[in-house]
Order: sequence, then C-alpha cells, then structure tokens
Amino acid sequence: MDVQLRVYAGLVDLLARAELEVPFGQPRSVKDLLGSVGIPRCELGFLLVDGEAATPDRLLVGGERVAAYPPLHQLVPDPGDDLWPTPPDPRRFVLDVHLGTLCRRLRLLGFDVWYRSFADDDELAAVAVTEGRILLSRDRQLLLRRTIIHGYCPRADDPDDQLTEVAERYGLGDRCRPLTRCVRCNGDLEVVDKAEGLEELPPRTRRAFDTFARCSVCRQVYWPGAHTPAIERILSGVGAQGTGAR
Ligand SMILES: [Zn+2]
Repeated sequence: MDVQLRVYAGLVDLLARAELEVPFGQPRSVKDLLGSVGIPRCELGFLLVDGEAATPDRLLVGGERVAAYPPLHQLVPDPGDDLWPTPPDPRRFVLDVHLGTLCRRLRLLGFDVWYRSFADDDELAAVAVTEGRILLSRDRQLLLRRTIIHGYCPRADDPDDQLTEVAERYGLGDRCRPLTRCVRCNGDLEVVDKAEGLEELPPRTRRAFDTFARCSVCRQVYWPGAHTPAIERILSGVGAQGTGAR
C-alpha cells in the first residue's frame, strides 16, 4: 500500500508540492521514506504517522499517512517536542562551493564560516561532522548523508534572501558581531591603532579613522567606514538592530 505523504511550510519547497503518494515496497523508516523523495533528516522538525507523533526511525509497513513539518519554532511560539536538533552555539557554518556570496555576508556579520572554492562533498561532510558545523548547501544529496545532523538547503537564489532564511532558522539576529571576522579568510580581527604602522593604507584613510581592525591570519586591514553601509543593510535584513560596527 502506498504511503500518503503530506508536508508543510518550507518542506513544500523541497517536495515541489504539498502531498504525494509514495509507492511502498519493503518496510522502511519514515526517515528513509522522506529521504527517497529528497527531504533530508536535518530539515525535519516534527512528524505525525496516522495522526500520532513519531520519530524519524519509526518503521512504516505501508498504508500509513505521514505528515512532516519543518522546525516547529518557525511555526509556533512554544515548540514542545521538536525533532529538529538544537544547533551548535555559537553558530558555526560550512558552506558548499556555490554559496560564496552568502559566506562573505555571514563573515561580515562575524560568523565563523568554513569555505573553500574547490571543496568536494566528502570534504564538506567531514568538516561538518568533525568540527560540529551547520552545513549549508543546495545539494540535497549532500544533506541527505546520514552523518549530517545540522544542515539546511537555502531555497532562494539571491544571497540576501538566503541570508534572511538562514538568519530566521538559526536565530542569527541577536548573534551578529559585525567586523570581528575576516571576510576573506575567516580569521579573527584584532583592533589596531593607526600608530602601529598600517603604511599599506592610503594616507587619507589613515587620517580619517583612529581605529582599524586587522586580520590575525592574512593581515588584511579593515576600517569602519568601508563596510558600515553594507553591514547596516545586511543587519536590517536579518532582523538585527544596527550595532554601530566598530
Ligand atoms: Zn584574513
């Protein structure tokens, strides 16, 4: 007997519809059935099987009605028995090669983001697991790997919209620390006084500001005026107050 699957809210994007009859052969877990139609475990928040709360490992024998929901904190104020695993705090990410702009946005807000333009799926999955990072990828085969506990598939094509999605899902608004991390290499920024050299900067820039930040890894220098408008715009997009980027 086929399984009647119904999905809600953001999971509709992954299934490209709200309901589906899934052909049924061997007994299999809810998790496996959902994986077979492209819905990764890491995106699940709550499950019902024949109207009763169920775990992802619940065995299906055919003929059931399955309802799958995204993380409940996005739907109701008091989520109760949400299956969605509590994400690591502080939020740390690993992004696939197609999300370079999103990577720069997240780093500009101070988030620790692992990104390599040449990383393959095995490397991304290994970094997510061994470093306890949240995997952001639009490759659902990657998110479907059993080892991936924390992950999300950004639905939007536009990096600003992707950032809004990720910020809502992972509560980034209150966690932003703008200009504390190097956009280029992910290193920590340290505050430097202009007395300490910085000859590489144009004289006008050196005169205009008293405080600069320098990457502790690649030595890139940042100063507030260069990024403030972009940061303020991005912060308002993720629902955070302008924090007066330092
Ligand atoms: Zn750097």
